[in-house]
Amino acid sequence: MISQRSLDIPPFLVMDVLERAKELEAQGFHIIHMEVGEPDFAPPAKVTQAAIDALQRGETHYTHSLGIIELRQAIAAHYKKRYAVTIDPAQVIITQGTSPALLLALCSLINSAEQVILPNPAYACYPNFVRYIGGQPVQIPVDAECGFILDPQKVKKHITSKTKALLINSPANPTGTLIPPKVMQDLANLGPMIISDEIYHGLVYGEKEHSILEYTDRAFVLNGFSKYYAMTGFRLGYIIAPKEFVRPIQKSQQNLFICASSIAQWAGVSALNDHHPELNAMKRIYDERRRYLLQELPKLGFNIAFEPKGAFYILADARHLGADSYKLAFDILEKVHVALDPGIDFGSNAEGFLRFSYANSLENIQIGIERLVHYINTL
Ligand code: PMP
Repeated sequence: MISQRSLDIPPFLVMDVLERAKELEAQGFHIIHMEVGEPDFAPPAKVTQAAIDALQRGETHYTHSLGIIELRQAIAAHYKKRYAVTIDPAQVIITQGTSPALLLALCSLINSAEQVILPNPAYACYPNFVRYIGGQPVQIPVDAECGFILDPQKVKKHITSKTKALLINSPANPTGTLIPPKVMQDLANLGPMIISDEIYHGLVYGEKEHSILEYTDRAFVLNGFSKYYAMTGFRLGYIIAPKEFVRPIQKSQQNLFICASSIAQWAGVSALNDHHPELNAMKRIYDERRRYLLQELPKLGFNIAFEPKGAFYILADARHLGADSYKLAFDILEKVHVALDPGIDFGSNAEGFLRFSYANSLENIQIGIERLVHYINTL
């Protein structure tokens, strides 16, 4: 019999859209992909070279379960330089992506039936991770009119004796929201431990992102190389944890994963320590696409109540086209071959919205917009 846990975990709907889009592609249709949250760029050349060098040097073995010291030191130096926070490399645990980082951090903190507060909408997998390990997600609605930002006063009302952590993500998937410094501070002061997913750091347009470690030490930072460094396939991420959690996390890592990929870890050292002109160029291009969509989507009736400042997503109100975002996303895909992510993927409060990922070329995005015009005109 299949376990209850496996039966209960919902699918990641964006993958359903992607898989149907691939089927249509296999039938010869041309699809514009604006559903997946994956950079369309190659990693910086020096990063790729560092991976090749590592392979050729024979760095093909298990590493220390916490990760290679060179990478852990580079991460501590990065947080010092970028956010002026002092962390000991001994607090850093290297993982096979931010997803395992979240799993390990939650496992080290949450007992059965304990609660994790998070916004609704939020990254689709968050509540599923929490339930999977036996915890309870408590999702607080955040509205577009308030920039999808958690209100610390509302959060306070949801804190109970079972509340163990508050899970935040700035810049956020799917909203592009950047949490302002004052709100970060107020959230940090509430009491529960903060789990801060900083995976979209670096991809911020016009403002500056902040690390939770600028406001409190009672926090886990989750971060990785998938987004800013365009290294999704390397599967590399990390946790910065309070010291007393490092050994418990290490024991889980040894049992569950052993260590992160040695080759990817050496590529990560290059990502942080070398200069990569490509990164600024990528950011400029993302921003150009973002501004294009912010200009074009409202013309098609997609309401965008606030300006998303980071990541590579726009969560736009699509209720003029239908209330059921799943149905709408599949209808758009079948009729005009534009793949979008239904808002419901990210929580009930994003029902009626569609997430536009601009991790695709401006030329393709422009074709996507033309096709949406056609879709709307033929309704
Ligand atoms: N957190 C957020 C908010 C994400 O959007 C993603 C990827 N879509 C992840 C974590 C996981 O990233 P990875 O495992 O590739 O590091």
